[in-house]
Amino acid sequence: MTTEVEGQVQETQEISSQGNGEQKNPVRMSPDLTFINEVASLGGEDYKKCYQCATCSATCPISPDDKPFPRKEMILAGWGARDQLVNDPDIWLCHQCNDCSAICPRDVNPGDVLAALRKYSYQHNAVPGFMGKLVNKPLFLPVIIGLPVLIMAVVVGAFGNFQPEGEIIFRNFLPHPFPLDFLFSFFAIFAMVISAISGLKFWNGLKTGPRPPVAGAKGFVFGIIEAVKEIISHKQFNECDKANPRYYSHLLTFYGFIALYITTSLVFFGLYILHIETPLALTNPVKILGNLGALAFLVGTGLMLLDRLTSREKAGKSTYNDWLFIGLMFGLALSGILTEIFRLLNIPVLAYSVYFIHLVLILSMMGYFPYSKFAHLLYRTLAIAYYYGYAVAEERIEN
Ligand code: SF4
Repeated sequence: MTTEVEGQVQETQEISSQGNGEQKNPVRMSPDLTFINEVASLGGEDYKKCYQCATCSATCPISPDDKPFPRKEMILAGWGARDQLVNDPDIWLCHQCNDCSAICPRDVNPGDVLAALRKYSYQHNAVPGFMGKLVNKPLFLPVIIGLPVLIMAVVVGAFGNFQPEGEIIFRNFLPHPFPLDFLFSFFAIFAMVISAISGLKFWNGLKTGPRPPVAGAKGFVFGIIEAVKEIISHKQFNECDKANPRYYSHLLTFYGFIALYITTSLVFFGLYILHIETPLALTNPVKILGNLGALAFLVGTGLMLLDRLTSREKAGKSTYNDWLFIGLMFGLALSGILTEIFRLLNIPVLAYSVYFIHLVLILSMMGYFPYSKFAHLLYRTLAIAYYYGYAVAEERIEN
């Protein structure tokens, strides 16, 4: 049977549940060809070569016994089963260690297919939808770089001074709390609200997917505890073999980010509650925490960058979305450290120029968080919580 969707002819297939040609309880498939093409363009075209031997699922150390991945996702991708895949928590359980890709007898890279499905998923859940396209299409790169540069340039031009005289003091470049802290607070709230809406859409989608909910509130609590434990320890990441070194780069990036977040919160508390002006002395414990966090973030993101530049086997196929995300994180870490170095060396031109770039990158990170690979933090956490809370909750609660 054929149907026309968005100008493309689709085949509707009936799949026999018996495999002997007998049509018993047939499953009717309506392949979404747009989805198939999009997954391929996101780096997941390898599903075509898969012959369903299941070696990948047997190899994966974190694949569940019940409905193991990634074999089933390979065939569902080929069938264009969009709804089943975007609502499948399993694609988020995978950390793309690529053990499966290394062992596949067909030289397929299932890790890349799951990565492409995750990219499709966060674009699909983006609110508003056009932002998902804007941030993830190379065509719009000048816009997504130009927009935060323009905003920051207008704000500095209107309320600050591009070339302050005398000692390097960044609040002379752009005062705080207004407009600097107001601007960042606005973008932080924007990112949180959009993430909450997208996250809810994703969560509701999971309930209609291949792993329907089997538990109530108690399961949810189990799920959240499991997700937090996994994120703090990166335990499952460490179970992978081939790309185990990526465990360290992710751990450094994650804890570097947390240290920077705590530092920023403490600086805000000191500034507005205790009235302690910045910059803090290098020996101040908050400053030490911030510098250690920045260093960990720089080394972690630098290692990720190196992995992608030197080893496809370890990092998987790199697409535009990956480069944008890693480039932004690495740039953020590097510009933050260089800003401090140039201030300490007392080179105003470099200190203020790099500070401006740093502010633009912070703005980009906040503004693009729900639409870029940053959103992994949100979707992976929810998927792990859902999986352990609902999909395998009964078993856990009984134990
Ligand atoms: Fe397909 Fe390769 Fe997995 Fe076999 S090991 S099911 S060929 S992806």
